[in-house]
Amino acid sequence: MAKTVAERKAEQRKRQKELGVTKIELLVDNQELEMIKRNCVLRMPGREPYGIVEYLQMLIRKDDAEYKKQVEKLSKRKCKRCGDILPVQQCCMSGDSECWVTSGYKELKLVI
Ligand SMILES: [Zn+2]
Repeated sequence: MAKTVAERKAEQRKRQKELGVTKIELLVDNQELEMIKRNCVLRMPGREPYGIVEYLQMLIRKDDAEYKKQVEKLSKRKCKRCGDILPVQQCCMSGDSECWVTSGYKELKLVI
């Protein structure tokens, strides 16, 4: 027997709860919304476009993967001041020009 809308919704909520899904509210301006909608289509030429949620979820995962790659590369270096393996999150020498914490964020921050 076909499930009712309420039953399907209840199942979806149960699945999402099991996955630990959290709903977040996201405010975007007209320009950003236009970029999202456009790129959902342009990133899948000739195919079914990405859904907005799917597209944003993939950007999150893409950035996470990129961050991990950057950290792996950084971990081959050490802070010149304290000798800790990069990236250093906190250092008592922060502010010292030789300490990685002073300007290391520039190597990890998001760049457009
Ligand atoms: Zn340091």
